[in-house]
Amino acid sequence: MAKAIGVDVGGTKMLFLLLDHQGKILERKKLATPTDKKPFLKTLVDGINDIKGNEKIEGIGLDFAGFIDSSTGIIQFSPNMPWINGVNINSYLKKSFNEELFFENDANAFALAEYAVGYKRKYKNIIGITLGTGVGSGIICNGFLVKGQGLGAELGHMIIDHSSGKICGCGNIGCFEAHCNGKALFEKAMEKGLKIKSNEELHYYLKRDDIRAIEAVKDVSKHLAVGFVNIINIFDPDAIIVGGGLSEIGLLLDTAKKELSKYKLVRNDTKILRAKLGEDAPAIGAAMLVFENRREQKK
Ligand SMILES: [Zn+2]
Repeated sequence: MAKAIGVDVGGTKMLFLLLDHQGKILERKKLATPTDKKPFLKTLVDGINDIKGNEKIEGIGLDFAGFIDSSTGIIQFSPNMPWINGVNINSYLKKSFNEELFFENDANAFALAEYAVGYKRKYKNIIGITLGTGVGSGIICNGFLVKGQGLGAELGHMIIDHSSGKICGCGNIGCFEAHCNGKALFEKAMEKGLKIKSNEELHYYLKRDDIRAIEAVKDVSKHLAVGFVNIINIFDPDAIIVGGGLSEIGLLLDTAKKELSKYKLVRNDTKILRAKLGEDAPAIGAAMLVFENRREQKK
């Protein structure tokens, strides 16, 4: 049975998975992400070797929480690990491994995983959205990942309300991400008068039906709906699959779905679904890049 390795490189942890071609996890290993370039690269190689053992694998896929050029394997920009900017992961890993190597942004890997493994290719056209510290996205069109020249599919940085003056982490004003990430929700909650230190505390108030917490979530939902309207009208996908920490707030997605009815859409029955694979999704998607590439070559 064909096997591949998927590595999810996040700001605090690295997850290594050994997967079969159907996306079943055969081995897993989690390591803390070192905070400098040299120890990071060493941990990356050691982790892959460790999970590989004596297995014969088809390839290695790596996803990264930031801008990584999938065509070159060069990290362009990392919001959490500035010391890694400009590093060519591809040429470094090539020194240690003969297998084929693939690279992708974590949200693209997430979308691929939910398409191929989570929803077992039930929908051919999906948009994956992750709502967390940032708003990530991946586009699957007719069963294949869309990424432009290698850095594409950043729907989180489509501008949905320039007049808001809300500055995004990317430097632009009024991005989808700036209105719908964890920080936006937190700021809304404070604005509504809640004295909280983190979004975890917001869950506490939501459970007690606190009106301030409910209003904060609903306000963010309105912006989420605007993003969904743009996505539906541009891509006409079968489904928008939503993951990330914020997607666990049922009220957020439910309200966004209701809000959609206020807009003119190319289609009114686009499914808004919750992601199925949880935290493992990006690493699963990274490994699936290996198998998907084979399909792409046959296309
Ligand atoms: Zn932005």
